[in-house]
Amino acid sequence: MFKAVCFVKKLCVVAPLGAAILLWSCKRPSLPSAEPPPSAAQPVVEPEAPKPADPAPVQPVKHADTSGSVIVLCYHRFEEKPKDALGITPAAFESQLNAIKEGGYSVIGMSEFLAWRRGEASIPAKSCVITIDDGFRSSHDVAWPILKKFGYPFTMFIYTAYVKGGALAGGASLSWNELKQMRDEGVDIQSHTINHQSLRAKSGKFQSQFASYEEWLRNEMLGSKRLLESNLGISVKVLAYPYGEHNQLIRNIAMEAGYEAAFTVYGQRLTFQSPADQLGRYAIESTKPRIFSDALAMIGGSGDSAPQPAPAELMHAAAASMVTMPFEGEVVQELKPVVKADLAVLGEVEPGTVEIRISGVGPIPVRYDAATKKAEGVLIEPLKSRNVTVILSALVHSKKVEIKWQFVCEAVPESSPKSSPAQ
Ligand SMILES: [Zn+2]
Repeated sequence: MFKAVCFVKKLCVVAPLGAAILLWSCKRPSLPSAEPPPSAAQPVVEPEAPKPADPAPVQPVKHADTSGSVIVLCYHRFEEKPKDALGITPAAFESQLNAIKEGGYSVIGMSEFLAWRRGEASIPAKSCVITIDDGFRSSHDVAWPILKKFGYPFTMFIYTAYVKGGALAGGASLSWNELKQMRDEGVDIQSHTINHQSLRAKSGKFQSQFASYEEWLRNEMLGSKRLLESNLGISVKVLAYPYGEHNQLIRNIAMEAGYEAAFTVYGQRLTFQSPADQLGRYAIESTKPRIFSDALAMIGGSGDSAPQPAPAELMHAAAASMVTMPFEGEVVQELKPVVKADLAVLGEVEPGTVEIRISGVGPIPVRYDAATKKAEGVLIEPLKSRNVTVILSALVHSKKVEIKWQFVCEAVPESSPKSSPAQ
């Protein structure tokens, strides 16, 4: 049996000359958790506005399951020839949606996500939320028809000054009528402030008319919410910080403004405990396909029974999470335990290149199944030391990738003369 336990491991990419490069240098401090505040959204419904269609009706459950993991993807523009990294070709977008579907991820709407966060509804173990920022024409003309093909709900984060007629509108802006059309067909619309200026910037051309920085912040976050609510007759509950930038003051004002959730662009796996005022999204960049595959890998390998890793571990590269047996830190009694690993997170492993070495033992025979991406090593001779290090290596796109993990074998006597330090 393959134990579905997800652990973050040390993962090295060994360059051709043997130089090991550690991949997880992007540590960030773990952040305090915060309870989502009660919704204070006050929809202002225009008399003539049709009732917004709910993209994902939530079935209330008595005892909602708070387990489940979510990745939130953030897109911007969809174009045949991407002008920059924030543009993605329709074909690439469609193939990503295919990967989501084929990978067994459930795309849920923002309303389902919020209901889960409130403890009112359960979500599938591997859930994904799709968001599109800014309000470019291509989200309506290009992305929407593709999303419709898959039947996937999605959220548009709109900065209101960019909507046609607004101070920052351009040729690629959507109009309020187009937003109404999207709303009527079930597209979720939320706020991305008024002017899309970094909320951390204390001076700027939009701020002169405000008495204080705080007042300007309030206007950016509450003003856009109110305008979207009054123009579209919706309840705006979610904010995406421009450029993902925020700090304690910004987060406080966002929550005071009545947002139930606020998103950054710091990609991470979201759980029920993730702080509501800084929920990470994966900002997809066409020049970095790894962002998308890392996002899927973040919740892809372990199924629904995986324990939630500590926040610090979450900060590590997604590619470093892998299901293994024995799992990291496990205490086993057998002298010849089965050694297994799910290599799915590594991507396309070249069959025939998977090697497993055990401290004190050396290389062991290994079987790799390219279809399931599972590797299994067999110990012919017994373990020699209590503290065991497993080193698994393989070629991925001609590069050697090495993963290490450790477990304890209690069957080896502590004072065993054969015992050697695990290295
Ligand atoms: Zn934006």
